[in-house]
Amino acid sequence: MTLDRLGRPLHDLRISVTDRCNFRCTYCMPKEIFGRDFEFMRREELLSFEEIERVAAAFVRAGVQKLRLTGGEPLLRKGIEDLIGLLGRIEGVEDLTLTTNGSLLARKAPALKAAGLDRVTVSLDSMDDTVFMAMNDVGFPVQNVLDGIEAAASVGLTPVKVNMVVKRGVNETSVVDMARHFRGTGHIVRFIEYMDVGSTNGWRLDDVVSGKEIVASINRTFPLEPIDPNYLGEVAQRYRYLDGEGEIGVITSVTQPFCGDCSRARISAEGKLYTCLFATHGTDFRQLLRGGATDAELDAAIASVWSRRDDRYSEIRTSQTVEIGRKVEMSYIGG
Ligand code: SAM
Ligand code: SF4
Ligand code: SF4
Repeated sequence: MTLDRLGRPLHDLRISVTDRCNFRCTYCMPKEIFGRDFEFMRREELLSFEEIERVAAAFVRAGVQKLRLTGGEPLLRKGIEDLIGLLGRIEGVEDLTLTTNGSLLARKAPALKAAGLDRVTVSLDSMDDTVFMAMNDVGFPVQNVLDGIEAAASVGLTPVKVNMVVKRGVNETSVVDMARHFRGTGHIVRFIEYMDVGSTNGWRLDDVVSGKEIVASINRTFPLEPIDPNYLGEVAQRYRYLDGEGEIGVITSVTQPFCGDCSRARISAEGKLYTCLFATHGTDFRQLLRGGATDAELDAAIASVWSRRDDRYSEIRTSQTVEIGRKVEMSYIGG
């Protein structure tokens, strides 16, 4: 097993299958930047399903056990079920999941399950239509996402995780409503601190609602206690309701970074490998694949990148103000 320069193994691979999205969440793809004139990747620039399968298999040989499909909006990629089928057949994959905005989930959940997907994470930032529509910025209603979550649960893509990014002055008042709605359903809400990913969302530290504040506000209405992580390197801190109505997670990437256990690699839709969410440069795997690289050459390329990795952006950010180059966008690299 290859360890990076800080002794971290490689366990997780997040695969972005498209940089396109049908939402324009203000914290991720603000309309002013991702407007009509924005140039998304052309079809031939995207890795094909066969190319993704080859890269994923190489990562599994390098120690990856969890694969997550993301984007952009992964359910916009045509034939995504076929890719899931290919990835599910790779020996050694223990967890095959997908993160989605939920807009197409009600329709696609049965096919995703049948193709071999294990679970889904669905993003939903408020239970209030006015707030949610302003955040997705395309007027998409809450109910359609809820229908997607229920469709996923009913076909067994469980436990469904629900991601809520909390932004000060925008949706912080929705935190307790989210907790209330999903308590007792078996779905796990994960409250995420708003991060300074990319360079287009105008992030300011003042906009971040800390995990501590989030837990305190839920705890006032629904008392909570911390519980142990499921495994080393789990990004969410877990809490359970004292009355037994389930659990929540809090992802404190800004106020309590977890780089020390970070075992995640990310591959963009055009096949660039990034070893940190805040990276400025990636390694071009598409060139290797299309240049006829053998499996052994792919394995060597992964080992070479991972053994040189020393990323710990979030830890450095909180100990000093860092000025790095232009970071890649979340919609490009996937969450
Ligand atoms: N479109 C899909 C979705 O929204 O679930 C998958 C891609 S999206 C980039 C993955 C996750 O990143 C989502 O849960 C989203 O809320 C989160 N995200 C995007 N920008 C973020 C930011 N600035 N801070 C924290 N989380 C963010
Ligand atoms: Fe699209 Fe997801 Fe980004 Fe929202 S968070 S704009 S749904 S990629
Ligand atoms: Fe991992 Fe980079 Fe996030 Fe740290 S900042 S947890 S190294 S992705």
